Amino acid sequence: VGARSVESVREDFPILAEVVDGKPLVWLDNAATTQRPRAVIDRLVRYYEHENSNVHRAAHALAARSTDAYEASRRTVAGFIGAGSPDEIVFVRGTTEGINLVARSFVRPRLAPGDEVVLTRLEHHANIVPWQIVAAETGAVIKVAPIDDDGQIELGAYSRLFTPRTRFASFAHVANALGTITPAAEMIAIAHSHGVPVLLDAAQSAPHLPLDVRALDVDFLVFSGHKILGPTGIGVVYGKGELLEEAEPYQGGGNMIADVTFEQTIYQPAPAKFEAGTGNIADAVGLAAAIEYVRGLGIENIAAYEHALLVYGTEALRRVPGVRIVGTAAQKATVLSFVLDGHSVEEVGQALSREGIAVRAGHHCAQPALRRFGLEATVRPSIAFYNTCDELDALADVVRNVAGGGVW
Ligand code: PMP
Repeated sequence: VGARSVESVREDFPILAEVVDGKPLVWLDNAATTQRPRAVIDRLVRYYEHENSNVHRAAHALAARSTDAYEASRRTVAGFIGAGSPDEIVFVRGTTEGINLVARSFVRPRLAPGDEVVLTRLEHHANIVPWQIVAAETGAVIKVAPIDDDGQIELGAYSRLFTPRTRFASFAHVANALGTITPAAEMIAIAHSHGVPVLLDAAQSAPHLPLDVRALDVDFLVFSGHKILGPTGIGVVYGKGELLEEAEPYQGGGNMIADVTFEQTIYQPAPAKFEAGTGNIADAVGLAAAIEYVRGLGIENIAAYEHALLVYGTEALRRVPGVRIVGTAAQKATVLSFVLDGHSVEEVGQALSREGIAVRAGHHCAQPALRRFGLEATVRPSIAFYNTCDELDALADVVRNVAGGGVW
């Protein structure tokens, strides 16, 4: 991984030394959540041992420390994704809450009956259900861009979905069930050519690919801390400053107000307007430590190493008789979805688990994407930069044994 050996990188992650049922842990469930480096764990401990306080409100030493740490995290996140200002970064619980925030606060007030929101067949349920809820509330209609047999967006069909009634588009940068990297820049440009703002679900791309919100010219972007080595319960909404100003508050309460009377409340500007109540201060600070760790390795180095692993793992699995890889787009990241002829995904998942190999077997919260391939479920190993070719060989060996009717 860049200048560092994968062995030394693995030493940064205490949990990778774990033994489960006598077998060394092989963590290939990174699309569900990544593991945390000691730097993140230590940062959380330091926060709670030396800095813990509520932010903004009290004028004392610890309040200053926690406020400084929290706002420094906002700057770290802004820098990491190329945002022009930390004021464009809103802390939320995760990708799911981020999409719900954009759907409710920015898009819903713009929707009239018959207006349209464009999604794609690749989406995680978190990028489907919030839109169904606002569509039901407003009488708007959801339109879905199709995917081809490789699991890539059909760009022509996507561009033909846009009409004068289209108000918003939202899609994943990397599809969590298939690993497809979508042509985000082109898709954003197509939407913009129709005057339509775009949200990019970067849950699976932020940990694995370089991101630059200004180069992409994306209007909103969301991701989750726990998928990029950070804590659970913290995530990010990026929004262009002027769009965040236009958006309505998400929740009401303390922190988000400038002045309250029973007659009228004046809100804070973004990002405070969207952060009602006491936020997840410690985990925002932990997220910044995770991003610093990623920066230390270099996201380009991470992307290159993971790509090599993905190619290696794909070939290893392809050599197993009866394996069908689902999602064969030329541009892919992190995910190796597959099914095995004559064996249920549960059977394969359990055989792997008995060998200490953690993968996901199921629908991965992306039922429409899998149903495009006539499937209800796949086995989904997903890669991070601390994985190795040996681990992928071990994975393929177990699958080969299941395929060969081996006793497990
Ligand atoms: N979108 C995508 C593409 C995802 O992979 C996930 C997580 N599996 C989500 C959204 C939801 O993220 P979270 O559960 O962290 O809110």
